[in-house]
Amino acid sequence: MIVKLSDIEDRLIVKGEIASPVFENLEEEQFTIESPVRFELVITKLDDNVRISGPVRSTVIMSCSRCLEEFSCPLETYLDIEVEPKRLLSHEAEVELRPDDLDIYYYDGDEINLDPLIYDEVLLNLPIRPLCREDCAGLCHICGKNKNVESCACSQYASTVLGEKLKNFLNT
Ligand SMILES: [Zn+2]
Ligand SMILES: [Zn+2]
Repeated sequence: MIVKLSDIEDRLIVKGEIASPVFENLEEEQFTIESPVRFELVITKLDDNVRISGPVRSTVIMSCSRCLEEFSCPLETYLDIEVEPKRLLSHEAEVELRPDDLDIYYYDGDEINLDPLIYDEVLLNLPIRPLCREDCAGLCHICGKNKNVESCACSQYASTVLGEKLKNFLNT
């Protein structure tokens, strides 16, 4: 969605949603958008900058980092950024960019495209180690069974062996 700054007096509230297919070409990411990404953003004109803030919500499908099963993960984040006009960025300033400046956004001319800002917000807020549930038992590292679904004897055996070794170690 593109907003025209000349249409905004002081502030503007934009509500909308981005359909999931828009995210499909972001193939490097291990997720699928399940429901449209909904946003309700307040766009405030400051002097030269523009502040954009408000909730961004969606549901994504990710693979659990323990059991590898796909699960549905609600995503609710709050976007709060300032966007600077591109013309203020001199060549010198570009060279001196510090790492903490990297998430400054720029707009060109009279228009701001909200879509890339919203994508970034979603990408930045995906869980790094997604879990289908807090206490996911994961896969057995010996037989590979999903321990949420069925139990196996491996871990018991493994812990007994380890227990025996530990006992021997402590007794010597
Ligand atoms: Zn899991
Ligand atoms: Zn096992």
